[in-house]
Amino acid sequence: MKDVIGRHSDERSRAAFEEAKKVLPGGVNSPVRAFKSVGLTPMFIDHGVGPRIYDIDGNSFIDYVGSWGPLIMGHAHPEVVKALQDAVAKGTSFGAPTLLETEMAKLVAERVPSVDIVRMVSSGTEATMSAIRLARGYTGRNKIMKFEGSYHGHADSLLIKAGSGVATLGLPDSPGVPEGVAVNTITVPYNDLESVKLAFEHYGEEIAGVIVEPVAGNMGVVPPLPGFLEGLRQVTTQFGSLLIFDEVMTGFRVHMNCAQGRFGVTPDVTCLGKVIGGGLPVGAYGGRREIMEQIAPSGPIYQAGTLSGNPLAMTAGFTTLSLLTPEVYDRLERLSAKLQAGFESNAKEKGIPFTVNRVGSMVCPFFTNEKVINFNTAKTSDLDLFHRYFAALLEEGVNVAPSQFEGMFVSGVHTEEDIDLTIEAQRRALKKL
Ligand code: PMP
Repeated sequence: MKDVIGRHSDERSRAAFEEAKKVLPGGVNSPVRAFKSVGLTPMFIDHGVGPRIYDIDGNSFIDYVGSWGPLIMGHAHPEVVKALQDAVAKGTSFGAPTLLETEMAKLVAERVPSVDIVRMVSSGTEATMSAIRLARGYTGRNKIMKFEGSYHGHADSLLIKAGSGVATLGLPDSPGVPEGVAVNTITVPYNDLESVKLAFEHYGEEIAGVIVEPVAGNMGVVPPLPGFLEGLRQVTTQFGSLLIFDEVMTGFRVHMNCAQGRFGVTPDVTCLGKVIGGGLPVGAYGGRREIMEQIAPSGPIYQAGTLSGNPLAMTAGFTTLSLLTPEVYDRLERLSAKLQAGFESNAKEKGIPFTVNRVGSMVCPFFTNEKVINFNTAKTSDLDLFHRYFAALLEEGVNVAPSQFEGMFVSGVHTEEDIDLTIEAQRRALKKL
């Protein structure tokens, strides 16, 4: 594809955004999309093909947002489109069992080490919220532990010191979360096993579960330090708390068997989303049979959904997972390493503080010389520089998330040429800073 990338005009998107603001809060249906923190007008997207997106002003971009993670095989993948066309012709929703739900559950159980059985829901938020209820119901305890700068969706008990848009917009404790809920959420710094152990010494018998992103992806990308996940496994087992891996972002992204397969640590419960829905609204939570069977109707803990296991969502997810072979993950690793090396070499040439964190195809440049291992070190990134970098990258035709606290996602359909073009574009963007 030889079209010219870059943002050359934004007239139509500006007008569309003004119209949208009349009827949608902030003009959007999810906060970070509004580009508020970077002070720009968001592109209104017309369509996407493979690794590219096209806006209503006729601009095209090499896309590293991938709908915030789901599109690991790019936009409008022909096999996903075809499968959806076939599925939609048979009806959009039944609220009754279909064969594909069992096929999907089998595939998930086969690939995710911790999952014997799984419940499908419609978003990552629902998955984590339900997993927390399960942990509380199963253990009979109230408190949960999460990590500063981690984002697990917008359920009340998880919106405490959260990352992602919460961090981007500087809203660490959202109004509307009752104090009585917040007191049951213990937050500790990511990668800090000592703090985890201290909190357990204090509250151990009250902690229902620890929820963790096995690679943090909502404070930028922060890999787990060696021993961190193993330590969480040990301490939760010791105190009879459940270890919940929130793999909404990492699931099928960083490894064929999710982050738990990559790092060899098996949680009690796993939350999934994004990739598992192939671009349609899907979440899931699963785990050991005896725990999951506490969910209704096999057990007393209630959770339900009108559109759960929706045939279109299952079709997009199942087709996407079926495309994810070991070769795809090798390719993701190779292309992402190349992107990282190119970025680092450009930044060195420019002589700015720069460090790139990467796990598989999750890539995140920070404008700091500090090693980024938690939210506090992530916040040492020069945000003003990031905002200018973001604007310059868009002008050069590279779409990344409009926030320092999000990573880039390389897809299985980015080509070597796309990566080369991106590295060149980033070099030009850095020159403009
Ligand atoms: N958990 C993690 C780790 C996430 O990254 C996200 C979304 N970015 C969520 C949960 C929430 O998922 P959703 O937006 O589908 O509700």
